[in-house]
Amino acid sequence: MSVQTDSSPGPALEQLKFLSPAEVRHVAETFGTPVFVYDEQRIRDGVALLKDLPSAYGHTIRYSLKASPSAAVIRLFDSLGVHFDASSVWEVIRAVRAGVAPEKILMTAQEADFGSAELPDLIRRGLQFDAGSLQQLTEYGEAFPGTEVSVRINPGFGSGLVRRLTSGGPDSSFGIWHEQVPEVKAIAERYDLTVTRLHVHIGSGHHADVLLPAARRLLEIAKDFGDVRAVDLGGGYRITVMADDPEYDHSEWAEELASDLRLFAEQTGRELHMEMEPGTFLVANAGSIVAKVIDVVTTGDEGRRFVKINAGLTEILRPSYYGSPHPVVAVTREGELPPEGPRSDVAGHCCIAGDVLTTRPGSVEELSPVRLGAVEPGDYLVVERSGGYCASMSMKNFNSYPEAPEVLRRPDGSFTLIRARQTIDQLTANEIIPDDLKTEAV
Ligand SMILES: *Cc1c(COP(=O)(O)O)cnc(C)c1O
Repeated sequence: MSVQTDSSPGPALEQLKFLSPAEVRHVAETFGTPVFVYDEQRIRDGVALLKDLPSAYGHTIRYSLKASPSAAVIRLFDSLGVHFDASSVWEVIRAVRAGVAPEKILMTAQEADFGSAELPDLIRRGLQFDAGSLQQLTEYGEAFPGTEVSVRINPGFGSGLVRRLTSGGPDSSFGIWHEQVPEVKAIAERYDLTVTRLHVHIGSGHHADVLLPAARRLLEIAKDFGDVRAVDLGGGYRITVMADDPEYDHSEWAEELASDLRLFAEQTGRELHMEMEPGTFLVANAGSIVAKVIDVVTTGDEGRRFVKINAGLTEILRPSYYGSPHPVVAVTREGELPPEGPRSDVAGHCCIAGDVLTTRPGSVEELSPVRLGAVEPGDYLVVERSGGYCASMSMKNFNSYPEAPEVLRRPDGSFTLIRARQTIDQLTANEIIPDDLKTEAV
């Protein structure tokens, strides 16, 4: 066998982010596996950190709902005074149902249907609209002439962890191309619209040295739009995921932006408010998937060792979709950390070959085994950085696996269910069998 315990230098052995090994066992035994666990204190700490960022004339934090839109998570952010970024009218509706005032929500969406029953009504109730194209701005103007509006700009460049996470530049369909600003002006005049906010979202996991030029492009444009009161920098703030990743200090770019805004105020007499829309930053490292090891298979002398778990694409798409690494940590069934075992790949429970969690970073076609504690079927694997874009962005119900439950660890250390495991009745609830195909049995 070529697989053996590997203590050579290389990637670090990953560690649990917030659960203790005993809590992993407790959660698994109480709620079953697979299960998402979110840590309320980490979310609170992230909000506090962003509220403390330097800013020239104040700043608003908008939590990006698409990262994790469960009602309890929304309530937590609302109770902390955070506002919201919504990527579709349906996210807006979820937030409003969870008790969020529509005026606290800014909608920036690829699809905005002003002929629908929902969107115009929500706008009348205070929902703020960010036009992501000239077409959207025109449709908004036709529906709501004489009102205020935001405009999303594609600054001509972007930055993200991978190309699929980059939402600025010529290869991105998001926002109004920066050279089309004169057309924004013309449409705004035609419908008597007042542009009060300029927005960019250049990508997820961007470099701060790309964010600042994007912000400066907004400030240039703001000189031409005298009613602009706020610049919104979107989301995408980098976080430390793997043990070997660097730490990121977000106060550095915030300080630089604050001095840009002060300079802008000196030149124009206008004090612009800053807005930001973090999703990943606030929730990603505040969530873990607790899964059970169900099998271990090896594939010959030149082959691999796969640890299979009872979660996969149905809970976490990111490794196979982006090639993004997630720390994986082994915990024994007794709730203890095992000694290090052989380097392994981790496979999910779906019956397609793409359900692997150990893709090579940046390359979804290749595998890259990780250091892992020694486990066998019946033990647990915890997949970290699973609080954002996992429960909300999974291959839900593939192979007819029911949607996994979500649990919140409260600051007092207790665990409470915030979304129950889906039932097979819920999974098939909308299916209709034509009468002539019905059998006695169903
Ligand atoms: C997705 C998105 C965000 C959040 O991005 P993160 O990478 O999760 O911080 C913010 N703003 C807009 C417009 C988005 O589409």
